[in-house]
Amino acid sequence: MRGLALICLLILSSTLRAWDAVPQKVADGVYAFIGETGPRTVANEGMNANTGFIITDAGVVVIDSGSSRQVAQKIEATIRKITPQPIKWVINTGGQDHRWLGNSHFAAQGIPVLAHEKTVTDIAERGEMQAESLSRLLGAAFSGTQVQKPTRTFTSRETLTLGKESIELIFAGGGHTPGDSIVWLPRQRVAFSGDIVYVDRLLGVMPMSHVGRWLGSFVALEALQPELIVPGHGAPADRAKARKETHDYLLKLRTHMKQAVDAGDDLQKAIDTLDDKAFAYLPVYPELRGPNASRAYLEAEAE
Ligand SMILES: [Zn+2]
Repeated sequence: MRGLALICLLILSSTLRAWDAVPQKVADGVYAFIGETGPRTVANEGMNANTGFIITDAGVVVIDSGSSRQVAQKIEATIRKITPQPIKWVINTGGQDHRWLGNSHFAAQGIPVLAHEKTVTDIAERGEMQAESLSRLLGAAFSGTQVQKPTRTFTSRETLTLGKESIELIFAGGGHTPGDSIVWLPRQRVAFSGDIVYVDRLLGVMPMSHVGRWLGSFVALEALQPELIVPGHGAPADRAKARKETHDYLLKLRTHMKQAVDAGDDLQKAIDTLDDKAFAYLPVYPELRGPNASRAYLEAEAE
């Protein structure tokens, strides 16, 4: 009996230790993997973010390669169940771990990996550190994962043409990470925003983020007039929700912190007087409001 209980426990824990790789079809030929909005865990394999892929009649484009070699294999296996089309491109929309740590799996097959040049620099600077920290969390589920930088770069705009499909990559200044880029599908009017849009949770301003440039990227995204945004985090959303939960919060942070710096307020006073209660309903607000505010203050102070 003890043996059976142990086997049951092993089966249970192995099912818990899995990112399920079930995609959501969001438009004709367009699929998104919607991750959890909580932290990276062993159970979600570090896929607490959204990624996706586009199927055309001339091949498949993968949007973000996932958090590990194993996750990249699952992405590929999922695509194989839906289409016999070969994978022609992998795009990294930004420099955060789950957007590029699966690169080596695809690059080993000779598939080009495309990203903005600032994402390549970001990975060169932080990639080993990100891999180490995810390896510590995921253990065996991370084994065999290698740091593989993108193999192709673009500077401001790039169009991939596959059959009759155009897939546009747009860089408008980055934001959450320096190379954050938009993948725009003009025919379907769907935008994969990467970490330029967070909904259903408070966004995170990191040491490498820039609130001012992030706002610029958001405005460029909005100007495309997408009918659907697949955000970096949270459920697919319309423009109004993305504006409310990303743009309006960033603008509040930036405006308040610039005024505070101009008034000569110190960091603590600037944080204490920040009225961001309108965003208190968003998960992780209690954890992130302080760090976000202090980074926005430092950015305003440096200008
Ligand atoms: Zn992210």
